[in-house]
Amino acid sequence: MQKNIRNFSIIAHIDHGKSTLADRIIQECGAVADRDLSAQMMDTMDIEQERGITIKAQSVRLNYVKDGQNYILNLIDTPGHVDFSYEVSRSLASSDGALLIIDATQGVEAQTIANVYIAMDNDLEILPVVNKIDLPSADPDRVLEEVEEAIGIDCTESNLISAKTGVGVKALIDAIVDRIPSPVGDTDAPTKALIYDSWFDNYLGALALVRVYDGSIKKGQMIRMMNTQEEHQVLNLMYPHPRKPTKTNVIETGEIGIVILGLKTTNSIAVGDTITDAKNPTAEVIDGFEPAKPFVFAGIYPIETDKFEDLRDALNKLQLNDSSISFEPESSAALGSGFRTGFLGMLHMEVIKERLEREFDLDLIATAPTVVYEILKTDGTRITIQNPSELPAPNYIDTIFEPYVKATILVPDEFLGNVIKLLNDKRGNQNKMDYIGKRVLLDYDIPMNEIVMDFYDKLKSTTKGYASFDYEPIGFRPGVLQKLDIKVAGEIVDALSIIVPENKALSKGREFIKALKELIPRQLFEVAIQASIGNNVIARETVKSTGKNVTAKCYGGDITRKRKLLEKQKAGKKRMKAIGKVNVPQEAFMAVLKI
Ligand code: GDP
Ligand code: MG
Repeated sequence: MQKNIRNFSIIAHIDHGKSTLADRIIQECGAVADRDLSAQMMDTMDIEQERGITIKAQSVRLNYVKDGQNYILNLIDTPGHVDFSYEVSRSLASSDGALLIIDATQGVEAQTIANVYIAMDNDLEILPVVNKIDLPSADPDRVLEEVEEAIGIDCTESNLISAKTGVGVKALIDAIVDRIPSPVGDTDAPTKALIYDSWFDNYLGALALVRVYDGSIKKGQMIRMMNTQEEHQVLNLMYPHPRKPTKTNVIETGEIGIVILGLKTTNSIAVGDTITDAKNPTAEVIDGFEPAKPFVFAGIYPIETDKFEDLRDALNKLQLNDSSISFEPESSAALGSGFRTGFLGMLHMEVIKERLEREFDLDLIATAPTVVYEILKTDGTRITIQNPSELPAPNYIDTIFEPYVKATILVPDEFLGNVIKLLNDKRGNQNKMDYIGKRVLLDYDIPMNEIVMDFYDKLKSTTKGYASFDYEPIGFRPGVLQKLDIKVAGEIVDALSIIVPENKALSKGREFIKALKELIPRQLFEVAIQASIGNNVIARETVKSTGKNVTAKCYGGDITRKRKLLEKQKAGKKRMKAIGKVNVPQEAFMAVLKI
């Protein structure tokens, strides 16, 4: 019955305790035996557990009894990282309320604010929850004041909890039942459901996690996806649970469930799409649909050239359950054959590269990540490029457009000067600056490429880790940019080319080759490293030669010693790519991020 259903998300800044609270609520509802609670319940992927972050949004259906009444609680754990903000927004669109978790020792942070805005856009009932009150430095009163001041939410009815010890969690669940509205929807209307997550299961194939708004989804029903226009039959239905989903024959109005269509890839299950009945479709598509769009691109190359097809297979497999990755073959004069691969953001890129190496046992070289540029050419045509080496020669370029983001930064006022300096240095434009107690909330437009280039680490170090940061893409703007090329031993290494602001080309070029000089190991011969713009060399460094052949000294000597030395050299080479005669290590391709 709809009136006994509560659909809610948990939103928070990273590390404020979303996943811990989710686990605690599951336990409180008796959905798992206590002895199964050893590990974090909601973060089920290996990498999630190791890194302590949530990558895929997970949902769980729970039963709860209050005052003799049975309730169904559908809990949606959302990923907190900015790369996955589209998933957060779809999760929230599926909810009727949100628990806003704030760490009692930290207070409001940039992602707290960004997520609250998404929750408000979706008209959710927001319950402020102050977590970690077990810690000695907890200051719930100050934190609640901040929430009222920074976000403008009334905090007279708030919950103080410790997700770790369980204090206050039962009262919080009661508050969920009392304050979060039950779903409204027309049980007799045609099927209307939102796909808010999809993933791939080795046994069941591609799965869609849905919220039903009107009507119901039944086993055997022919359904249509309204954006992709595909039609499929519902093979099975389940209620979600991180350990043991249960089968059902129908998902009713207001409910959440997993739809199994027997598909071999998630490509046709687009998050944000609307499911309806194929024969009796609804008139209204649920709005806000956006196809997953990669923002950051990098070249990924196997170190051993004969592993190209293995890499293609691995990317294909990963794409089955993560349709936000894109890839196409590219060849680099320097690195050989590989793939230009698109990601949602920097964390996503790191996770995918790590999974390729671990799960598929590949040794890879990744080039520095870059954004997409739009080029208006002098002949009036427009092209987009995902690789700096594709930039046309200057006389063919009318304007280069680069993607911008709106950045939200929250920083204690003592570091304000440092942060403003950093933002100016990164070509940021200030929109707004507000004081919240002793902290400052900054709203800037900034080129996305500057964010990709190590912005977050610099922000952390210049604020002793006290600043928090969130961003969202806001479209393309013209930039005064040019391409900087790097030559190693006289040859341009296409994989090292970067696009830089014209007025910084000289200093960037100098710093870049200084960094490369430190990273490229000495070889048997002298290696020149040059930075150039067009045909002009703007800076030059030299890696001195070792002067002697390493194996030469064992010449005629003990053969096992010689073999050992060669093995050692081989191991050292593992992350190196031979460019011409020069061995270049993986770090060199990322060096540009640190300058
Ligand atoms: P998420 O990133 O929001 O999902 O945060 P997690 O649930 O992963 O929690 C981040 C860290 O805070 C973990 O080390 C938790 O053990 C810890 N934590 C979460 N809730 C509490 C709490 O109530 N008290 C204390 N002391 N630590 C907590
Ligand atoms: Mg988490």
